[in-house]
This record gives sequence, structure tokens and C-alpha cells, in this order.
Amino acid sequence: MFETLSDRLTSALQNLRGKGKLTDADVDATAREIRIALLEADVALPVVRTFINQIKQRAKGAEVSQALNPAQQVIKIVNEELVGILGGETRRLNLAKNPPTVIMLAGLQGSGKTTLAGKLAMHLKKQGHAPLLVACDLQRPNAVTQLQVVGERAGVRVFAPEPGNGVGDPVAVARDSVAEARSAQHDVVIVDTAGRLGVDEEMMRQAADIRDEVEPNETLFVVDAMIGQDAVSTAEAFRDGVGFTGVVLTKLDGDARGGAALSVREVTGAPILYASNGEKLEDFDAFHPDRMASRILG
Ligand code: GDP
Repeated sequence: MFETLSDRLTSALQNLRGKGKLTDADVDATAREIRIALLEADVALPVVRTFINQIKQRAKGAEVSQALNPAQQVIKIVNEELVGILGGETRRLNLAKNPPTVIMLAGLQGSGKTTLAGKLAMHLKKQGHAPLLVACDLQRPNAVTQLQVVGERAGVRVFAPEPGNGVGDPVAVARDSVAEARSAQHDVVIVDTAGRLGVDEEMMRQAADIRDEVEPNETLFVVDAMIGQDAVSTAEAFRDGVGFTGVVLTKLDGDARGGAALSVREVTGAPILYASNGEKLEDFDAFHPDRMASRILG
């Protein structure tokens, strides 16, 4: 992830090195190269436009600095703007004042929700929480089993409908899980919901029904960073159909160009809370905009 973008940005900024003074033409030329680098990395067009305008405006108006040469000054501006579109400050999980905290996961099938449920559960367990994983994806026959496998690996209990009780009602399972969490002293409930391969009204309605029933403290939209530009339209569909308070990027270990990671926050306004970068439960961390920006700028 980000290798090409990182190379392209580095070379765009390289051309400024050694210049004693930046003319507007220098800034324009650099901005053009940055624009191409971002578009090639699949960053959404409105995000590219805002980004480039900011860079131009700030670089042209920059005070002559004693401490930084022109190239360093532009690099600093690009870095700050990258941190900005990635969300600025690291956003922490919103915990309920009266536990349990309910976290609902929503996203397309294959986006990595079930894996993430295990990762998040393990992460929270390490921080001293006692999470309960809840299987509300009752559409795919294997989904419940898959969550149980993940739960076992994470060492976290899984709440699921009894086998043999028919398909089951995900809304009822979600409601019962919160009651169970209260009585069994689980302070966090992580609800895994059903996804489809594409955006689908029935899936949205089900997720919205679960949301209305359990009123989550956080609804996290889980998105596969490998789907590129589609990440933005999928995020918009989930924002309108279910609504979410935060984003989790998965598969950041892949060789995608990074556009999704750079667009979703700016387009939806929702902060990125976590990043998932591998199939193992340990391949997971809180999302830090500043670290990601440094990684991109090399
Ligand atoms: P769900 O359908 O949304 O519940 O998605 P799953 O959790 O079943 O994940 C779909 C596939 O993606 C599985 O094969 C996972 O092992 C894989 N996967 C999930 N997260 C990551 C990740 O961060 N990196 C990689 N490389 N694979 C992942």
C-alpha cells in the first residue's frame, strides 16, 4: 500500500530541493505533480481538488522561514494537509458511561467484518475489557461458525442463536446479547452483522433495525481498502442507509494504491478509528493519521 503514491510524492517534492526561493510557477508545477500522484492512487476527485487548492494557497502565501528552506516548507504543508484529510487527531473509541458499550460492525460481505470483530475483541481484552462477540449474520450458514472460530482464537465468548432454531432473528439476537452482557458482566458488546457482496436494501434495512434495537455507541463501517474508488460510493450508501460513527480500513497490507484510505474520511466526515493489515488477529491497530501521513511521505 502507498508505495507508488509515496514514490510519486517524493519525486514531485524532490524538484523543489536546492531552490532558494519558490515562485508561484514552482508551486503550480509541484501541485500538478501531486495532483497526478493522488489521482493515480485512486483518491476521489473532490478530495484531490480540496487538497491541491489548500497546498497551493498555503505554499504561495507561506512566510519566508529562517528555519526551513522552500522544499522543506512545502513538504511540511503537504504533510499537515495529509494528516488533515486522514482525520487529524487519533479518534478513540466512544465508551458508554453505563456499560455495556455496544459496537456494531457494518460493511459488505468479504470486507473483513468477522475477522475485525475478533481483532477488536482481542485488542479490547488486552486493554482490560471483557468483550462479548455477537453473531447477527444469520444469513450465511457459515458466518456463525466463522465468528465462533475467531472468538476462540481471540479467547472471547461468542453469543449466537442455538443451532437448530431455524434461521433466527438478528434483531432479537442483538437485543438478547445486550441483556446477556449486562447479567454476565461483559462491558463491551461487538455485533457482527450480515453483509452482501454489493449494496443491497434488505441488508441496509436489517442493519438499521439492529441499530434501532440496540442503539450502538459506535457503528463502525468496515471497508476493504483494496476496492479503490468503490470504497467511496459504498461508504456513501452505508452512511445514508445505516449511518456510522467511524470507519475501519481493512487489508492495508494489500498492494492497493491507497485512494480509499485517503478519501473515506474526507468524503463521509466520519473518522477512521482502526486499521487492519493482515489475516492474523494481531494484524490490527488504532489508526493514527500522523503516522499514516509519514508513511506516505516516506
Ligand atoms: P466478512 O465477510 O466481512 O465477515 O469478512 P471476513 O472477516 O470473513 O474476511 C474476508 C476475507 O478477508 C477472509 O479471507 C479474511 O481472512 C480476509 N481478511 C480480513 N481482514 C484482512 C486484512 O486486514 N488483510 C488481509 N490480507 N486479509 C484480510
